[in-house]
Order: sequence, then C-alpha cells, then structure tokens
Amino acid sequence: EEEKAAGGQVVVAGAPLITATKVKVNVSMPEVAERAAATGADGVGLLRAEHMILSIGQHPVKFIKEGKEEELVEKLAEGIRTVAAAFYPRPVWYRTLDAPTNEFKEMPGGEDEPDERNPMLGWRGIRRSLDQPELLRAEFKAIKKVVEEGYDNIGVMLPLVGHPEQIRKAKEIARSVGLEPHKDVEWGIMIEVPAAALIIEDLIKEGLDFVSFGTNDLTQYTLAIDRDNDRIAYLYDEKHPAVLKLIKHVIKVAKKYGVETSICGQAGSDPKMARILVRLGIDSISANPDAVELIRKTVAQEEQKLILEAARKRLFEDEDELDF
Ligand code: PEP
Ligand code: MG
Repeated sequence: EEEKAAGGQVVVAGAPLITATKVKVNVSMPEVAERAAATGADGVGLLRAEHMILSIGQHPVKFIKEGKEEELVEKLAEGIRTVAAAFYPRPVWYRTLDAPTNEFKEMPGGEDEPDERNPMLGWRGIRRSLDQPELLRAEFKAIKKVVEEGYDNIGVMLPLVGHPEQIRKAKEIARSVGLEPHKDVEWGIMIEVPAAALIIEDLIKEGLDFVSFGTNDLTQYTLAIDRDNDRIAYLYDEKHPAVLKLIKHVIKVAKKYGVETSICGQAGSDPKMARILVRLGIDSISANPDAVELIRKTVAQEEQKLILEAARKRLFEDEDELDF
C-alpha cells in the first residue's frame, strides 16, 4: 500500500525505467527462463541448481556412481544453456547445488543419507560439494560445455562459504576439468555465513568477481533463528541492525576491490529492504520474477531521492550558489 500511495511519479508510457543499481531476477528452473527474461531484469542473480538436479529423479551422487555422469552433465548443460540463451548477453549466475541432507534423503536412493540433528548447520553447500567432488565436477563440466558454445555470460556462485580454502579448493576442481582459468567465466560466492562477512577481505583475495547476499541464511545464522521454525519466526528479520551491519561492511570492502555486490535472498523482493540496499550502495538486487517491476520502480525512486539529497547538500554547502 505504501508503494502505491507514494505517488507524484511521472511515468512515460512504454519507456523502460533505467536504474544505476541493476535489478536482476532469481530463476529456480529453466522452464521459466523466457518469462523471467521478459521482466526486463538485468540478469539472473541466482540460478538454482536444485530443481535441475532433483529432476533426474535419483540421488545425484548415486546416479554418477552408476556411471551416468555424462547424462547428468548433459541435463545440467541443457538447463544452463536455456537460461544463458534467454538472457544473453545479460549475466547469469549459476549457484552450485545446496540441498541439506534431509532433502537429499527424500530422493530415491537417499536412504543412506546421514540423519543430522541440525541439517541447516550441517553437510550442505560448498562443504558437501568439496567432500563429494564428483558432483561439483559434473556441475563444472556442464558450465564449461555451455561456455565453450559461446555463452560468455555465465558466473559460478558458491553457497555457504566461510573459509578462503573452500574457494581455493573449488577452483582447483574447476581447473581439473578445464573451467579455470577461463576468461569468460565470472566467480562469486554467497554471503550467508556471518564469518564470511567478517573475513570478506580474505575471501576476495582468492579471486572473486562478485559476492551475493543470501539473506535467508545470513539472517538465520546471524540471529540464531532456524528459518523453518514457526515458533520463533516473529524474530526473523532481514533488516535487523546486525544483519545490515554485516551487509554494509561487505559492500564497503567489496567496493575497495572492485567486486560487484548483489543480493539474492528473499529480502531482495522486499521494497523496504531494496531502499536500504540502494542507500548502502549495492550494485544489484535480484528479486523473484513477480517482484522485478516493483523493485525496479522502488530502486528508481530511491536513486532519485539520493541524487536530490546530494545536490541539495552541495547547494547549501556552497554559499555562492545561494546568492542571487
Ligand atoms: C539465501 O540463503 O538467501 C539463498 C538465496 O539461498 P537458499 O534460500 O537456497 O538457502
Ligand atoms: Mg542459502
């Protein structure tokens, strides 16, 4: 309602709204790529691997062990290609698989998955990928395949990073399949673990082109609130000062190193959060497909306010400009 009541905007029919802060879109399955691209988003800030991998209908590590790696690579390449083509030349960041053990367990062949007391604090994201490199290798092979077809708009995004060695090891695996070094591939990580935000400089030094705030997890871990626990959901707040403080720190350091900053958590679809992020100087905001338009308008408004505020501040600082 607040957004509608804002008013006072002159909208030129049909003219695209251009913002300095990029507005991207989250894509969870290749089937919606065309529709997501039609929103006019500046790229894909999060291409989820989960749907593509789960659609093989079997535990992916077992699948590979049964000698079907090539089939999995093919399936992934097809999905990545579909999205990269729909958005070309706009960038598409593919996030490597991040499913907790309880989700792996539900797949056919998942009965041997460990029972973890806290799956959200457990064997997931880059930690698991490095322990089971056969799956990460298949993902990297799929990306390499699509990049070599001429799609130079793909980035690799690693989830749940907390240690510089994790980036180094992932890149070693990429090197073993010929994906690294590669001039046409960008590298990035999600900022989801508070530790990652606090040691951002050391992580950037491993060679990153971008970082993206996974605020769903960053909020969960910063505030010690299980994101799936309804009983404490009222305390879950992506705009909590502690979360914003971590975000602000990362943006500041990333700017120093010329690393692009983005957000791909749910909070990127929240106009109030978008306004805060524009003020913090974020480079891009990735929203759900149905929120792209609202976020674009919100970002445009907030950028206008910032420009006016800066201009007025200068006006009153320079006495001569007030003389008539
Ligand atoms: C996040 O943590 O904000 C995120 C985008 O990743 P996921 O929701 O898959 O954990
Ligand atoms: Mg996450």
